[in-house]
Amino acid sequence: MTSSQSNVRPEIYQFNLGKFKVTNILDGYFHRADMHPFAATNAPPSEIEKVAKDHHLPYPKLEHNFVPTIIETDDSLIAFDPGFGKRAPAPSAGWYNDLLEKTGYNVDQVTHVVVSHGHPDHIANLTTDDAPTFKNAEIVISRAEYEFWSGDAPIPEFRGATRKMFREVVVPLADRCRFIEPDASIVGGLTALNASGHSAGHLAFHVESEGKELMILSDTIAHYAISLANLEWQFSMDDNPEMAVQSRKRLVEQAASSKAPIIGFHMPFPSVGYIEKSNNSYEWRPATYQLNLQDD
Ligand SMILES: [Zn+2]
Repeated sequence: MTSSQSNVRPEIYQFNLGKFKVTNILDGYFHRADMHPFAATNAPPSEIEKVAKDHHLPYPKLEHNFVPTIIETDDSLIAFDPGFGKRAPAPSAGWYNDLLEKTGYNVDQVTHVVVSHGHPDHIANLTTDDAPTFKNAEIVISRAEYEFWSGDAPIPEFRGATRKMFREVVVPLADRCRFIEPDASIVGGLTALNASGHSAGHLAFHVESEGKELMILSDTIAHYAISLANLEWQFSMDDNPEMAVQSRKRLVEQAASSKAPIIGFHMPFPSVGYIEKSNNSYEWRPATYQLNLQDD
């Protein structure tokens, strides 16, 4: 018996939504030891610790997952935020391209890469060794996001590396980009939603097929327990924290009232669940088998 190999864990989850097939892939994870202030900068550490304990979570350690989504429609294969790729900073991430193959797809079949925003975990895999990873895909990105990172707007010091990567990875692909505004239709059944604040042009998405709905919240929720416990708490990675709180309140309320399944890029794998209003806060209810029974 040896414990030298890392443990096997679920990395691919697939379900149907009307006529669409939805796949979530675990691009990887980071382990961190700073739940406070990482997940909520403006909350007292004792309150964060209490929420963690209420959810049977350790404190201050946490696991941060990276979970890109793929949607197959009749005539499109849409890859949302396809992970780190070869630029992954640690072996615990950058698994996307291998897992895409394991799912039964390949990078050349992808027709659209939809970028929710320009932070590294969402764009790094757009190129591999300076060539487009998805060579047949149109790239769909918010115009505000593209202009923010490709321009000279002031940024916090820690975002210098983000702008550098954006200019290396996304700007050379500008002629493959479709620049959109919030509320734009990306393909039939897929609509962009304004989620600005986490970044200048951060987008969430509404998906609908044959009356079945899904929301992809991208980075609106940083941590499934902490961020939903108090929507006023600010995520350390939000570029405009006050604006992010406003977007979070609007989208979380929409998600809760829709009763639809919800996906978030940093939710624990397989990153599908429901948002439930409870008293003055919200709670994440992970999906169990509901989505396996649909469309039988
Ligand atoms: Zn992210």
